[in-house]
Amino acid sequence: MFADLHLHTNFSDGTYTPEELVAQAAKHKLAAIALTDHDTVEGCERAEIACRAEGIEFITGSELTAEQAGNEIHILGYFLNRQNTRLLAEISKFQAVRQDRIREMVSRLNQLGVPLEVEAVFQLANCRSPGRPHVARTLVQAGLCDSLDEAFERFLKKNRPAWVPKAKMSALAAIELIHQADGLAVMAHPGLNRSDEVIPDLVEAGLDGIECFHTKHSATVSDHYLRIAQRFNLLVTGGSDCHGMSKGKPLIGTVKLPMDRVEKLKAARRTAS
Ligand SMILES: [Zn+2]
Ligand SMILES: [Zn+2]
Repeated sequence: MFADLHLHTNFSDGTYTPEELVAQAAKHKLAAIALTDHDTVEGCERAEIACRAEGIEFITGSELTAEQAGNEIHILGYFLNRQNTRLLAEISKFQAVRQDRIREMVSRLNQLGVPLEVEAVFQLANCRSPGRPHVARTLVQAGLCDSLDEAFERFLKKNRPAWVPKAKMSALAAIELIHQADGLAVMAHPGLNRSDEVIPDLVEAGLDGIECFHTKHSATVSDHYLRIAQRFNLLVTGGSDCHGMSKGKPLIGTVKLPMDRVEKLKAARRTAS
């Protein structure tokens, strides 16, 4: 019995609909999943309904982009109250920031002589939380780049000519926002950000858990964060960070979190459902 607690759909930069994602979860015989789209909980209701039909346990989630001491940190919120007014208000602000950033990236591309239309990106993204992958996909679709890798390497990666820095809230504010919406706050894929020095500050702010298991964590990296989880008495989570077909093949099912970790997470919930 395994879970995958880090998944994206087309409500942010994944390619699956919530129903397609749940069908994949059923195919991989997952007992529980969490949907963690960037800066939104919109896909969760549909995913929850689909999970109910498949007998899969569903956890509402979202992945917030934040920063701490100059490091980009992603914070996962689990068991969020989807009706929480402040969460919804903040999320819609983050979505506006994302949409402005897309406009700025396209305008830089245009200045570089790349004739991409911003409406084409919004049309392809077809969601409120568009991001760089949507710009990359539109560049490929329009025949302006041969591959997503080329789009990122030439234009969109950090410090490339069409890259636009993203305004982010502090990780401490993200933790507080998640908590006031009844959620548990978990540091996502710490092995990708390589900023262990911020962990004590996040713990001080009430961080509940750390994502020890992730597609891009080697066994050594996972072990390292399991020790950190133990030292700071943090919950342990894990997930594939599957974005559907966007990065070659779907990753769902490649990270298998044992269900006893999910039980511990549920036991730590702020409000009983
Ligand atoms: Zn992330
Ligand atoms: Zn993610």
